[in-house]
Amino acid sequence: MENWDVIIVGAGSAGLSAGVYTVRSGLKTLILDEKLPGGTIADASIVVNYPGFHEISGGELSEKMTSHARKVGATIHDLEVVTEMDLSTEKKLIKTPRTTYEAKAVIYSTGSHYREIGVKGEKEFKGKGVSYCGVCDGPFFKGKKVLVVGGGNTACITTLYLSGLASQVFVIHRRRAFRAEESLVSDITSKSNVTIMWNTEIQEIKGDKQVRAVDLLDNLTGKTSELQVDAVFVQIGEAPNSQLAKAAGVETDEHGYIKVDGHQQTNMPGVFAAGDVTDQPVKQVGTAVGQGITAALEAYSFIRRPYYRK
Ligand SMILES: Cc1cc2nc3c(=O)[nH]c(=O)nc-3n(C[C@H](O)[C@H](O)[C@H](O)COP(=O)(O)OP(=O)(O)OC[C@H]3O[C@@H](n4cnc5c(N)ncnc54)[C@H](O)[C@@H]3O)c2cc1C
Repeated sequence: MENWDVIIVGAGSAGLSAGVYTVRSGLKTLILDEKLPGGTIADASIVVNYPGFHEISGGELSEKMTSHARKVGATIHDLEVVTEMDLSTEKKLIKTPRTTYEAKAVIYSTGSHYREIGVKGEKEFKGKGVSYCGVCDGPFFKGKKVLVVGGGNTACITTLYLSGLASQVFVIHRRRAFRAEESLVSDITSKSNVTIMWNTEIQEIKGDKQVRAVDLLDNLTGKTSELQVDAVFVQIGEAPNSQLAKAAGVETDEHGYIKVDGHQQTNMPGVFAAGDVTDQPVKQVGTAVGQGITAALEAYSFIRRPYYRK
C-alpha cells in the first residue's frame, strides 16, 4: 500500500491549487484525476475574469495550473478514477482500480457537472454558441440575440445578466411559471429586451460554424417554430460529483453539495473539500483556487499541528 500525507481527489482548479500549497508546506502529496488534469475550465473557450490574465483560453489556464503543481513537486496520476473511500479512521483509504492508497488527510475537489438538455446539436455546438455559464460566455454575445433555457434561479439570474449585454434575450421554460424567487422574476419581466416563452421546449440547435437558430415546440398546442438566435445558454442546473464522499459518510446539503465550514473542513476529521463540489455559493475558478488553498493549509495544520484540532 502506498502512503501519502495528503491525497487530493480531483485535479481541477481547486485540487491543483491545493497541491501547490500542500507540497510547498512539505507534505507528500498525490493528486488523482479520472481524466487528464486541469478540470472543467479546460472546456471554456476563453477566460477573461481570472485575475492576472486579461484573456486566456481555458485549456491554457488549466495547463499552466497543472504544470505549476507538477513543478513544485506534486505527484499527479491522471486517468485514475477514485472508486471508493474509507475515511472513518485516522488512516484514510482511497481506492482506485490500480491500488489502495493511504493518507493522513484528504482533500476532495471533484467539481460538478452541468445538466445537459440532450437535444440534437447541443454537443456539436458546445463552445460555438452553446454555453452553460452566462458570466463566462455572455460578454461574447454583446448586441446579439440569445436564448436561455430553464426556469429556476440560475436561469433567471443569467437572463438578468444577459439582458444588460444582448440586444434580445428569449427565455424558454417548459412549464407555465418560473421556480425562481419572486423578486428575480419581477426584475426579468420589467426588462424590455426579455421575452418569456412558457410551455416551450427546445427540439434542435442548428447552425454552421456557430449557433444560428433553434427549433422550438409549444408543448400545449404541439406547434413547432424556428427562432433565430446566436447563442443558447442552458441553465437547467448542475449536480455535484459528491457521491463517493457521501457514501463514505461526508455530509452534504439537500442538493448533494458537500457541507464545509470556513476552513473547508467537512464533518469528518482530516477530510476537507474545495471548489464546485462544496456548498459555497460562487462557482468560479477564483473561488475554487481560494478554497483549495484554504483546504491545503488546514490539512497541513491537521497533520503537523494536531494540538490545534477541535
Ligand atoms: C463552459 C464553462 C466555462 C466556464 N468559464 C469560466 C470562466 O470564464 N471563469 C471562471 O472563473 N469560471 C468559469 N467556469 C467555472 C469553472 O470552470 C469552475 O468553477 C471550476 O473549474 C471549478 O473547479 P473545481 O476544481 O472545483 O472542479 P473541476 O474543475 O470540475 O475539477 C474537478 C476534477 O475532479 C475530477 N474527478 C471527478 N470525480 C473524480 C473521481 N471519482 N476520481 C478522480 N477524479 C475525479 C474531474 O475529472 C475533474 O478534473 C466555467 C465552467 C464551464 C463549464
